[in-house]
Amino acid sequence: MDYFLSEEQKMVKDLAAKIAEEKVKPVREELDEKGEFPWDIMKVFAESDMCGLYIPEQYGGFGGGTLEFCLATEEISRVCGGVGVTFAASALGAVPILLFGSEEQKKKYLPDIAAGKKLAAFGLTEANAGSDAGGMETTAKKQGDHYVINGTKQWITNGGEAETYTVIAMTDKKKGSRGATAFIVEKGTPGFSFGKKENKMGIRCSATRELVFQDCKVPASNVLGKEGMGFIVAMKTLDRTRPGIGAQAVGIAQGALDEALKYSRERVQFGKPISTFQAIQHMLADMATQVEAARALVYASAKTIDAGAKDITKDAAIAKLFASDVAMKVTTDAVQILGGYGYMKEYPVEKMMRDAKITQIYEGTNQIQRNQIALGLIKEVVSKK
Ligand SMILES: Cc1cc2nc3c(=O)[nH]c(=O)nc-3n(C[C@H](O)[C@H](O)[C@H](O)COP(=O)(O)OP(=O)(O)OC[C@H]3O[C@@H](n4cnc5c(N)ncnc54)[C@H](O)[C@@H]3O)c2cc1C
Repeated sequence: MDYFLSEEQKMVKDLAAKIAEEKVKPVREELDEKGEFPWDIMKVFAESDMCGLYIPEQYGGFGGGTLEFCLATEEISRVCGGVGVTFAASALGAVPILLFGSEEQKKKYLPDIAAGKKLAAFGLTEANAGSDAGGMETTAKKQGDHYVINGTKQWITNGGEAETYTVIAMTDKKKGSRGATAFIVEKGTPGFSFGKKENKMGIRCSATRELVFQDCKVPASNVLGKEGMGFIVAMKTLDRTRPGIGAQAVGIAQGALDEALKYSRERVQFGKPISTFQAIQHMLADMATQVEAARALVYASAKTIDAGAKDITKDAAIAKLFASDVAMKVTTDAVQILGGYGYMKEYPVEKMMRDAKITQIYEGTNQIQRNQIALGLIKEVVSKK
């Protein structure tokens, strides 16, 4: 399907696809097996000016938007979902600065992220506060011109590898959802350390670690927005980045469809390629239809964001929900088309199936996306009355 991308957008997509094919494909199996962070590949992205696609030119970026970022994330994830999320999670850490940072904060932090010299990360989740972020226990107490942070964030993508962290902590528990504040915390700040790298089912090369804060002093000038705006920072950020998870999911699904189609033409059973069996053809047709529908939703939600729409929560949730469910379904069907070989590590579809699962869980589970979509629908009806 032709999405009538601009010449620049096609260039971004082609460049990401080229890097994925030439640099990621040859090492993806090893990275997955060893759970090794893809630093060499991140350096290639940096050298190719890919890290600041969504960052304005005045802060050293490419000056594109959510769509350019999604196009790149999709192409990288088509080859490896782990590298895809490593690339995308830096934007998750940087978008809060882009949306809520002061001019000084933007000038200080965005150029290095745009240049790929530094990665960013986003710390919201805790052991007892996943979907219910309001249950967070990490605190930040104001002391003069500093805040002192105590607590632990769990499962933070790029944790330990990133230099720049956006962290949400409670500054006034009594105020509930208005009692959280967002901070920029630099790696190396005394009292800020990391847990061990988690051993995961999929996206294994990506780094997932705890962020541990023990009397960690952060200057008051590192507050993003204002004290009490932490949940707004977090929710507005996720609205902007969820299409990126949708793009990761579309990429993984497309990669699995590519593999299934190729295999179905090579594998001969009953004297014919299995692609000549209508049962297989119909599976391929359904997979292609689902992938294209997911892609259309992801691009549409990205364009809505880039056009400056105010309330994007429902559209972003729809894209993330649909694309991630498609990724799980299509990768599972790809394994089915490859039969027993699909279950073996010699073929990439078992990794794709493992990688797909997380897209239904992070940046808000798909149950939470459904809650958001339903809330959005009800809000629309009420506002029309
Ligand atoms: C690999 C990985 C990387 C991650 N990266 C980051 C990161 O970079 N930054 C970050 O802050 N977090 C990150 N996370 C955390 C992730 O966003 C959370 O895991 C996710 O939000 C769900 O929280 P939970 O795992 O605690 O599940 P829970 O909230 O405990 O949910 C358990 C189950 O209950 C369901 N449920 C909960 N509440 C409701 C409800 N109200 N209605 C219906 N169903 C509900 C959920 O859908 C789920 O099925 C990451 C997680 C993983 C696994």
